[in-house]
Amino acid sequence: MNAVIHQQGASRTSEKPPLLSVKDLSTYFFSREGVLKAVDGVSFEIRRGEALGIAGESGCGKSVTAQSILRLVPSNGRIVGGQILLHDDGGATDLVKLNWKGPEIRRIRGKEIAMIFQEPMAGFSMVYTIGNQTIEAIRLHQHCSQAEARKIAIETLGRVGMPKPEQTIDAYPYALSGGMRQRAMIAMALSCHPSLLIADEPTTAVDVTIQAQVLELLKDLQRDMSMALMVITHDLAVISELCDRVMIMYLGKDVESAPARALFSDPKHPYTVGLLKSVPELGRGRGQEIAAISGSVPGPYERPRGCSFHPRCPRLIQNVCDVEPPPQVELASSHRVRCHLYA
Ligand code: SF4
Repeated sequence: MNAVIHQQGASRTSEKPPLLSVKDLSTYFFSREGVLKAVDGVSFEIRRGEALGIAGESGCGKSVTAQSILRLVPSNGRIVGGQILLHDDGGATDLVKLNWKGPEIRRIRGKEIAMIFQEPMAGFSMVYTIGNQTIEAIRLHQHCSQAEARKIAIETLGRVGMPKPEQTIDAYPYALSGGMRQRAMIAMALSCHPSLLIADEPTTAVDVTIQAQVLELLKDLQRDMSMALMVITHDLAVISELCDRVMIMYLGKDVESAPARALFSDPKHPYTVGLLKSVPELGRGRGQEIAAISGSVPGPYERPRGCSFHPRCPRLIQNVCDVEPPPQVELASSHRVRCHLYA
């Protein structure tokens, strides 16, 4: 995705009811090297029909947050605290309390919450056709015959812009181009009309021309299907294209969250400010100032004391930031930041 921030996204969904409430979620990994706090006390909410972007550098915990929601954390990891409440008309289900292999979470995966991956090959088996896999997913969640499921699959492939869906349905994933495979994966994810689609780096593995098409497609589908979208990316331009709200993560913490427009126009956390300054703007030529954030992300087992961003922070308050973890402060409606500057 080209690096330009459009500052769109607004509070158009703020009045909608909540779909997913994540409260104080912590997911750790355990190994001989020690304990890796991949997600460390993260809270956020996604409303029905809303698009939330989660951004941050590699290793900040954004993908593990998605894996925690789907209860697909790798075997050396565990959710050690918090709640993941999936709301419906009858109340809320805490996904953390479900058996990760049990029937309840299997019903929720795919039917209520679906996911598309950075690399479409990861979502498909190579030995079955696109149709076999999509039909199987449909029949797992809907009571319908093979023929009805095939009809739904063809309709969904058509809806995501797949040319000749009646023929493509019988193609094997490896026979499709990268862009077409991405569309097929989106079709499989959407075939059961999930309330929430999680897109993990949806444009990273496809080339620039396809990136724009995939973003446009996700935007159209989200609007037409009134579906909530959670976009995980390191690319703020993707978030500015798609999202109503943004959460920035750094070393497992939610350091800032706000409506997209507020965050892009008036970022508060020094890390967010640094991320935005490191994005080149289209049309401003070669002379523009692009400032990289100083230093590098510490190793996974070396969490700095106090504020974990303090070794890289240009606004560090000595003897405060390097000692005390900053509290989370609510600055304005739905604009929260973890930083001593605002405490
Ligand atoms: Fe920088 Fe201190 Fe704020 Fe951390 S708490 S981001 S070190 S000013």
